[in-house]
This record gives sequence, C-alpha cells and structure tokens, in this order.
Amino acid sequence: MLKGEVIAVGTELLLGQIANTNAQYISQKMAELGVPIYYHVTVGDNGERLKEVIKQAQTRSNLIILTGGLGPTQDDLTKESAAELLNLRIVLDEPSFAKIISFFEQRKTTMTENNKKQAMVIEGSEIFPNDHGLAPGIAVQKEGIHYIFLPGPPSEMRPMVDRYFVPWIKKQYQGHIFYSKVMRFMGIGESALEERIVDLIEKQENPTIAPLAKDGEVTIRLTAHASTENEALSIIEPVENEIHHRLKNHHYANGEEGIEEVVFHLLDRLQLTLSAAESCTGGLLGRQLTRISGSSKVYKGGVICYNNEIKHHILHVPIEILDSKGAVSMETAEILANENRKLFNTDLSVSITGIAGPDPVENKPVGLVYIGISEKGKNTVVKEIHLSGSRTFIQLRAAKYAYYYLWE
Ligand code: ATP
Ligand code: MG
Repeated sequence: MLKGEVIAVGTELLLGQIANTNAQYISQKMAELGVPIYYHVTVGDNGERLKEVIKQAQTRSNLIILTGGLGPTQDDLTKESAAELLNLRIVLDEPSFAKIISFFEQRKTTMTENNKKQAMVIEGSEIFPNDHGLAPGIAVQKEGIHYIFLPGPPSEMRPMVDRYFVPWIKKQYQGHIFYSKVMRFMGIGESALEERIVDLIEKQENPTIAPLAKDGEVTIRLTAHASTENEALSIIEPVENEIHHRLKNHHYANGEEGIEEVVFHLLDRLQLTLSAAESCTGGLLGRQLTRISGSSKVYKGGVICYNNEIKHHILHVPIEILDSKGAVSMETAEILANENRKLFNTDLSVSITGIAGPDPVENKPVGLVYIGISEKGKNTVVKEIHLSGSRTFIQLRAAKYAYYYLWE
C-alpha cells in the first residue's frame, strides 16, 4: 500500500504570496486513484530544513511527493538536498539537456551554466518529461520509499501529473484496478458526517474513504484496489452498507444523480404531483426540475411570490400575518405551501421564503430560510434552516434543502 505525503517547497508559500494549489491538485488526483495522502508539509527554500522534513516524511510515508525548486536558480535546491540526504549522486539526463540546448538555440539566446542544472537528475531515477517547461520530473526509489520530484509552476506540474505521474502510480499497482463509488448526502454537514464514521476513516485502507463538502451537500468517495471490478465491488460493499446504515436519513443517492432528479423519480414512481411557491429562490427550484425531461408529469408549476403583494393577493397570506410575523416566517411559509397546493391542485406543494442577503430584512439574519411542505391529507410541515454564504449560494442551498425535505 502506498502512503503518500506532499512536500511543497517554496518560501513564497510560507510568506503567503501564493497559495499551495499544487498540494491540492496532487491530493485530488491521488484521492481519485485511491492513494491516501496523510500529510501536507510546506517548507521554504532552505536545504537544511528541507532535509529535516524529508527525514520526518521517511518515518511515516512511502510515497514522498515534492513540488517546487527544480529550476535553474540558487534557491532551487530540492533535488540537490534530497540527493545529499539519500546519499545518491546527481547526474546529467542527456535527453533533458538536449531539449534545453535546442530551446536556447531556437530562441537565439545563450544558455547559461545554471540552465544545465535543470537537466540534472538523481542517479537511477525514472524521468517524467516536462512538456511545458525545461526541468523534468523525477521518480526515484530507495529502501522501499518512492520520492517524486515535480516542478513548481502549476502550468508544468499539472500536465506532468496527468500524463506521467498518474500512469506511474497505476504501474505500481500493476494487475490491479482502481474502482470508485461516490455516495451523496444531504442535510448534514461535513464534520457531523465525519464524526459518525470517524472510526471507519481512521482504519481505512482498502477501500479508502474520502468525504468532500461541495455545493451544499457532502459526498463520500470509496475507492478500492482490486484485480477485477467485481472484486472491487465486494471490497466496497460492506463499507458502503455500514456507512449507509449509519447515515440512512441523509444518503439520498450514489454517483452523479442530483437531489432534484432523485425527488423527481421518487414522485414519478409514487405518481404524485408537485407545485412550488418560491420567494427567495425566485423560481430556481422550478428551473432545476424543468431541466429534467418529462418533468411535467410531476411538476405542474409554481408561483414566484417574491413581493408581499403577490404573497397576499395570489396566495392569500393575510396582511396581519405579513405585518406581525413577516414574509420570512413559519406562518407565512405554511400558508404559502397550503394555498399554493390548492391553487395548482397538486398532491404536494413546497414553499421557500428566506433572506438571501446580502442585507438583513425584517430584523432577521441573512441565511434564515423557511421551507414549507404541504401534502394532501397530512399536516403541513415547516422547517427552519440557517444557511451561510453569498446570495447565490444561499438560494442554491435553499432549493436543495427543499428537495431534501421532500425526499425525507
Ligand atoms: P522554475 O523553473 O520556474 O524556478 P521550480 O520548479 O524551481 O520552477 P519554484 O521556483 O519553486 O519552482 O516555483 C516557481 C513558481 O511556481 C512559483 O513562483 C509559483 O508561482 C509556482 N509554484 C511553486 N510552488 C507552488 C505550489 N505549491 N502551488 C502553487 N504554485 C506554486
Ligand atoms: Mg524556481
């Protein structure tokens, strides 16, 4: 099993002049491949400190990925410091050197001695050509530990990872395949979700378990190494079942299927119709549902009751309620959902009223949203949620929560 660690080298990173997007990129790629990355380390352009962090990495990782400091200047000392520590020689890589020479010939400029430094590699290493720059990447192994050296500029590093490093990883697992499955969750934050499966995450090995929060929901990617897809599925299954068991009320789908599709298919199967009274989302929920072809079977339509006049005249929210409780209130959400259901003659109706921001309204905080669900023959339910983020994000999440409560 590979256990990865990323060491980003560069004083600019420590000074906060640039963000460490390389570590992020590498980690994302490794997660897709099911290679766990347990540590991110950042160190300045300083040979002694670099050696210290490599030594520390050797005690806990067998795939040490370094990025930055492969360039021609004095402060680029990643390869040199690592070679010294590993007690390996630095040698010239002829193809890389030839490329540097022709690069300078084409530009009719003279090459300086330190450009040659970019073609120097560690003895016994495998080369990753640099298709977008001069310094090649390097993979070298010593005493069971793999060391990978990648250039700092993202425009060079990213294509090198995709074209050479990812296949290199796959080669390490020869005869094995990587298979991943994504589970999707709503109505629970990333940390709350992690807390419930922390024991599984801590002892993860095969499959790896990678939670990710995105667009108001949380996903878990389960990745297995195996020799066949069936074997991978059987490795994933018990972990998937356990996670599902612990988070049933939140696990709404797998793979690419969004919550709106899940709700559409559910209502379609149950032959139930839906309408919406949307205030703060301004029709977003209807828009998302009508992107699905055939949605008219389920979604009859909605009212964008953005203004109080419309809430009152079309959906019969009494003026007294709007005055005393406000447009963003339990009471208003309930009346909107009920009246809208009657207006459209549907089995279900959902109402959304909230404060998308950026400024508070009615002395209520930005992000406060009420979602009402009215269903024939049942008591109307109103949920209060508190969202954060930009106006667009709050609107998006409010619509998502509305689906979630419909699904629940
Ligand atoms: P060069 O040949 O350009 O000197 P290099 O491999 O020596 O490349 P560095 O000198 O460490 O790399 O960094 C070059 C530039 O690449 C930095 O100024 C920065 O813009 C970018 N860079 C370096 N490391 C990172 C990182 N971890 N994340 C994002 N960008 C980075
Ligand atoms: Mg440099």
